Amino acid sequence: MDSSLISTLLRDLDNLVWEIHTIYEASFRTFSLQKGQFAYLTRICENEGINLADLSFQLKVDKTTTTKAVQKLILSDLIRKEQDTIDKRIWHLFPTDKTRQLYSQIISEKNRVLELCFAGFNSKDRVTFGSLVTKMSANIAKEWEKLRIEIKNNVSKNAQNMSLYRDKKVLLASMHQKELAIKEPFEEIVGCKLEVIDNFNTDQFGTFSGEVERVLTVYETLKKKAVVAAEQYNYDYVISSEGAFGPHPNYLLANSDTEMLLFYDRVNDYFISDYEISMETNLADYEFDQPDDDYSKFLEKVMFPSHALILKAGNTVLAKGINDRATLDQLVSENIHKYGKLKFETDMRAMHNPSRMKIINILANKLAKRVVAHCKKCDVPGFGITSYSGYLLCELCGLPTKIKKYRDYKCIKCDHIEKEIVDSSIQFADPKYCDFCNP
Ligand SMILES: [Zn+2]
Ligand SMILES: [Zn+2]
Repeated sequence: MDSSLISTLLRDLDNLVWEIHTIYEASFRTFSLQKGQFAYLTRICENEGINLADLSFQLKVDKTTTTKAVQKLILSDLIRKEQDTIDKRIWHLFPTDKTRQLYSQIISEKNRVLELCFAGFNSKDRVTFGSLVTKMSANIAKEWEKLRIEIKNNVSKNAQNMSLYRDKKVLLASMHQKELAIKEPFEEIVGCKLEVIDNFNTDQFGTFSGEVERVLTVYETLKKKAVVAAEQYNYDYVISSEGAFGPHPNYLLANSDTEMLLFYDRVNDYFISDYEISMETNLADYEFDQPDDDYSKFLEKVMFPSHALILKAGNTVLAKGINDRATLDQLVSENIHKYGKLKFETDMRAMHNPSRMKIINILANKLAKRVVAHCKKCDVPGFGITSYSGYLLCELCGLPTKIKKYRDYKCIKCDHIEKEIVDSSIQFADPKYCDFCNP
């Protein structure tokens, strides 16, 4: 094996990058910026309103590091955060005026260093160098991507090794092609084999057009469905699924899709379930009585035709799963005179509703991870978040607010609980959630 280095190029690049960063840090210290802060500030200035997840993705830094860095920048009055008006878990980041002024200084320092690097280059050299670097990045990107996939596969292999259900046959007791959203996460994370029965009649358990208040009832139905399916088709392991649509439990003005999934282990009598509430739903209806009604705006709003519609006259369903404009128009003109009044409803069946399918997929990933998480005390699977507890104190008056402090992880069999702080970057609650300051 040849033990001499072909070229010191990469070593030289390493040194170059290190030197440039040292020069940056020295300059930015005079603006009283701490190590690495300039990178966050420039990204936030260039993408005002960026959220934490996107910021950590852009900088290729993990979320915990980003959260800590952002917290520090807020304390130094370099950035401010604003809560998303719809999804309260998301915070948007903005530069303060102080930072906007700093930004131009940072950029001119970067330009100065760039010019130093290019001293003695003619314009053709600059272009050539740029395209060579781009080419090299593209070459290494393939290896980088391969490595990332390998790491991801190793993680799922480890999870599968932990899994009680590796190579076991699991029945998905559900209709409407939900396997498209559920199969992959379960096979990858749990390592089981998912099987689907054609036409498993879930209607016998009633359908839910329903209110979120009925989640408890939905849970009982899920259990019943799984038990019945396990007996009927002779499976030891079954997954059942339900969705409920309606006003969001916390933000009543917004519609939401609540999905629930349950994994039933008949051998050990374990029920492991999880749910996901999302406002990413097109749930809506539209009623009209004029033959020339222009319903285009409604169609756009509900993402037709990628999301299908149901046509109704009163309570009579005239057609389901409509997913092209010509058919829709035809059905309207055929029926509007006959009934006088027609109604479109969004078709919420999973295979007709990609938004819903996406939420089920997110939930399936969540449940699969829970199925391979074992209780540290009794080793029963299904260890996961069951509730939230504690209260954040109000930033203004110090009284407890409605904002929960901890996630509680609980065992499905024994009394073991682990608590985790919901958001370590927030120490106090915004007074708008305080009953005393904002009754
Ligand atoms: Zn208060
Ligand atoms: Zn336990």
